Amino acid sequence: MEKIVGLGKWAVIDIETTGISSLEDSIIDIGFLEFEGTKLARKFNSLVQYDGELSYFIQKLTGIKKKMLRQAPTLKSLLPDIEELFGYNLVAHNADFERSFLRPFFDKIDDGSTREQFQDSLYFLALLFPEKSSLNLESFIIDFNIAEKEQHRAYSDAIDLLKVMLTAVGVVMKRPVQYATLRSQFIAYGLAQEWFFSFLTMGEDALYQIADAIDYNLTESVEHFLEKERNLQNSKNVHLATGSVDKAFSGENIKKILQDSDNISQTLPGYKFRQAQVDFALRVGQSFKNKVHAIIQAPTGTGKTLGYLLPAMLFSKSEKKQVLVVTGTKTLQRQAQTKDVPAALDILQIKEREFRSSFLIGASNHLCELAFRQQQNDGDMLKATRPFEERFTDLYFEMVFFYNQHAGDDNFIAVDDLPYLFKKKILPFKKRTDELAVDYRTCAGKNCVYRQACSYLNGLINAQDADLIISNHAMMFSWPKSLPMPEYVVVDEAHKLEKETTSAFMIDVTSEKFHQLLESITHNYGIGSLYYLIANSKEFQDDATAIIEKIRNSLADLAPMIKGGVEELTESVELYFKKLPKYTELYWNEVPMFTKESSNDNLSVAILGQLDRLQSYLKGVEFIFSPYSSQFQFENFDSDEKKMAYAKFEVFIEQVHDLMVGLEHGLNAKEGYCNSLKYHQEFGVALESAPINVGKIISEQVLARSAAAVFTSATLGNVDGTSGGKGIEWATGYLYADPAKRFKTGLFLPPVFDYKNRTKIFLCDDVPSIHDNSFVSKTLKEAIEIINALEGRSLILFSSKARFEVAREILIGEFEGKIPIFIQGMGNNVVDDFKKAPMGVLLGMEVFGEGIDIPGMALQFVFVDKIPDLRMDHVINVRREFYEREIGNEFVDYYLSGRTRSLQQKLGRLLRTESDLGAAMIVDSRAKNWKGRTMEQFISLMRPYHIQRKNIKDAKVEIIEFITKINQA
Ligand code: SF4
Repeated sequence: MEKIVGLGKWAVIDIETTGISSLEDSIIDIGFLEFEGTKLARKFNSLVQYDGELSYFIQKLTGIKKKMLRQAPTLKSLLPDIEELFGYNLVAHNADFERSFLRPFFDKIDDGSTREQFQDSLYFLALLFPEKSSLNLESFIIDFNIAEKEQHRAYSDAIDLLKVMLTAVGVVMKRPVQYATLRSQFIAYGLAQEWFFSFLTMGEDALYQIADAIDYNLTESVEHFLEKERNLQNSKNVHLATGSVDKAFSGENIKKILQDSDNISQTLPGYKFRQAQVDFALRVGQSFKNKVHAIIQAPTGTGKTLGYLLPAMLFSKSEKKQVLVVTGTKTLQRQAQTKDVPAALDILQIKEREFRSSFLIGASNHLCELAFRQQQNDGDMLKATRPFEERFTDLYFEMVFFYNQHAGDDNFIAVDDLPYLFKKKILPFKKRTDELAVDYRTCAGKNCVYRQACSYLNGLINAQDADLIISNHAMMFSWPKSLPMPEYVVVDEAHKLEKETTSAFMIDVTSEKFHQLLESITHNYGIGSLYYLIANSKEFQDDATAIIEKIRNSLADLAPMIKGGVEELTESVELYFKKLPKYTELYWNEVPMFTKESSNDNLSVAILGQLDRLQSYLKGVEFIFSPYSSQFQFENFDSDEKKMAYAKFEVFIEQVHDLMVGLEHGLNAKEGYCNSLKYHQEFGVALESAPINVGKIISEQVLARSAAAVFTSATLGNVDGTSGGKGIEWATGYLYADPAKRFKTGLFLPPVFDYKNRTKIFLCDDVPSIHDNSFVSKTLKEAIEIINALEGRSLILFSSKARFEVAREILIGEFEGKIPIFIQGMGNNVVDDFKKAPMGVLLGMEVFGEGIDIPGMALQFVFVDKIPDLRMDHVINVRREFYEREIGNEFVDYYLSGRTRSLQQKLGRLLRTESDLGAAMIVDSRAKNWKGRTMEQFISLMRPYHIQRKNIKDAKVEIIEFITKINQA
């Protein structure tokens, strides 16, 4: 038997509590498995007596009922069992939670001997599976086929966590190179003393002994996971449909291909020919062929993605022109690259090697291995004396680069894929992420020894030769200089462009940016690189020490002034906002930025003075460094080290410059921009300068550079574009294009589904105000009758967290044990579970309702707690005025159509296939005040949905009748 070194006495532990605060909430369930080495020494599982109120949510989450707790042993009587763990290694997932509740018990018995050590499996599992963005326990439980979900009971979760850890090590042991790398890097980063290293290296026999002790079939689980991985790999090699397909780029041929249901359904089972899809594809083809821009609304069910991919691919092949497809989100971008493009190739009978598609994301979303290795050369990274979080961070990135070296072109880990939890919780992790994000200027390109596995460089190389580039909205505005932007473009999810353009062109100054600058000054980020350059430069050789000393002293004077200035500003802005009647601690507060001329109170005058002072401090920083920014030239450096050092220094200088530009803009509004001052209890101050005419920007940045750009979405205006479409023409820049360069009108394809006969949508305004305490209970009372009549099949959406939480308690209290309830945030797969359940209720927040796809009988009723609002940012108000002045009727085209578009997205859940049917109830007392014309415009914008105004009780009766009658038929 292998010798067990270092496991010692340990336990896997989990608790359930009445809430998340260790000061206010109580433990109600505790479970652990105690080990000595590989020997299971004790199992412990007990509920804990509790007489207080237990929310329905906790009861639902854990399955623990109030009466179970009344009969349970008291915490006092259980303490001796818990206290026996004093001095143990206590393994828990996200262990901060367990630590906060359990530590006080151990504190009380602290006799000076070795204390318990909480070991967080989050860190351990992240090192073994760096490709996983979500590290919650349930995602591992599901991935490893241990259970269908997390039980949220202490003992079973502790067992499941142990199974997860065993499987994780078992899987990694089957990958010898990764396993060896991991072990050697644990040692290299000074982490071999950590308890988890003992667990990782305990050896196969020991691993299986532990598995046997808990009756766990480890071999089967490891094999199952590896098999799943192999299958996933194989599924990427899309089967080539049989037959022959003409590759000509012509309208006739596109029609013929889409009419060939037999061919397409070999790749997309269930495919049905749709005229709307042909019309869509033909318009894309015409746009490219005739070099004219187009706008196309393609309602749900049109088959939009295939509709643009087929003509785009045929065009690219036959005309030898690159086509760019931009999606709304990076998730959709990955989906296009990994599923939609391979499917389209399959349909067209084109082999992957004959058509090159490339996946392009921004430089700063890639990770630079050379930068990582150069930091290691500093020697500091391997010091065992560094805090655990720093060493963990670097080992984690080591494993990320190991993964990226072996991943395919589309599977690499990007900055966006790194676990959000670490970015938020671990400061060195966030810092390292920023440092390693690729800066195109520092890339050593063909001189880099890591270039072969570099996702950034490979992305650019692939894009250069690609027939089709798949990218995202944000990239259009930060296109790599080294790569010509394709002249033929399809912009999907075009209704989101306004938001993306606003953030891409926003100029801002925030407390966070000032704190980052102070961090850089304190830790010499970028400044240290300048010292290195000065010390190694011929020009400064004799004076290097004196110069560096002078810079240090000047910064030492300025940094406290900047810090004090930011604190002063934050205090004044806080006072200013807290005087406003609408001040809220929950969200950002915002006012139009005042100027010297418009400020008429002491506080605003003080704020302007403080901003002025900050500006002069920044000028001081700029003054310190200006001799060196002008002295050194990037291209004159003779080594990569010096180039990299200069680029790091430039990043620091840009940080200063960015703040200066932000302050300059914030204090003196630039033409075409509007300024606002914001305050948030948690995030501090923001001074924002936002572009007003986004359409003009897109016309200059995208349309002017393109031979043909196609903008498409399922929700641009109403059904035929007679209402709302003009707002999109403006927001996409279409309105500014030369009329000879665009189709005269947008193409608004007819709905694929029978909305008139298969939906009933009621707007009920005879309800309490949304701010009334009784709003949720009174409106849900009627919805509950519908849910009961349909025996579930309902999606309930609330637009605020407070209302969502009240609704959650009501719905669980009403339906628990009768109709399954699925709640957003409660588990990883709520939507899938809801779809699979024969009947259920799905509760979520407003935006949750826009991103889910539930075809069939599982969903027949949608409840929406209000007509969605536009975010009333200052820039939105200014845009409305601008639109009215320069373009047309802002109320219909911009304001109301923005709201109806969002509502249509939610109602879009009802009909996903031709045989679906459903009803919706939108409750909003504000609609009572809508004058006749407004209501007409709202109803018109909502078409193809037929909105009926009804009192809530009548609406309820009609919905029940409508659905039950059709279901029975
Ligand atoms: S090729 Fe450029 S971005 Fe990639 S690792 Fe090397 S220096 Fe970094």
